Amino acid sequence: MGAADNEFVGEPGEVLRALHDDLEARAAALRTGATVPSGGISFGKRVGEGTSIAIERFADVAIHDQIVGQLALVDAALARVDEGTYGACQVCGKPIARERLEAIPWAATCVACA
Ligand SMILES: [Zn+2]
Repeated sequence: MGAADNEFVGEPGEVLRALHDDLEARAAALRTGATVPSGGISFGKRVGEGTSIAIERFADVAIHDQIVGQLALVDAALARVDEGTYGACQVCGKPIARERLEAIPWAATCVACA
């Protein structure tokens, strides 16, 4: 119940930094042709709504580009954490629903503005 929710809300930067590191490692591995480890972070299970990133097998340039694009979104969200604006919709300024941020920690807009 509440404890886990509060924990997440309190540490969005931690989640985002873990995502950043994971994405960066995968992008780097793709560039070097290394085998991508299937990863300690089981975040893929939580990535549902609207995102097509597959945290499973990375074999081609399109996927690399996708990871880089994802990384940019995560970094932008990290910047908002630093600014103290994380969790506010970038369009209407209203708070983004916690459920949405749990599903998409890098979400920049509320559901209505997405
Ligand atoms: Zn909005």
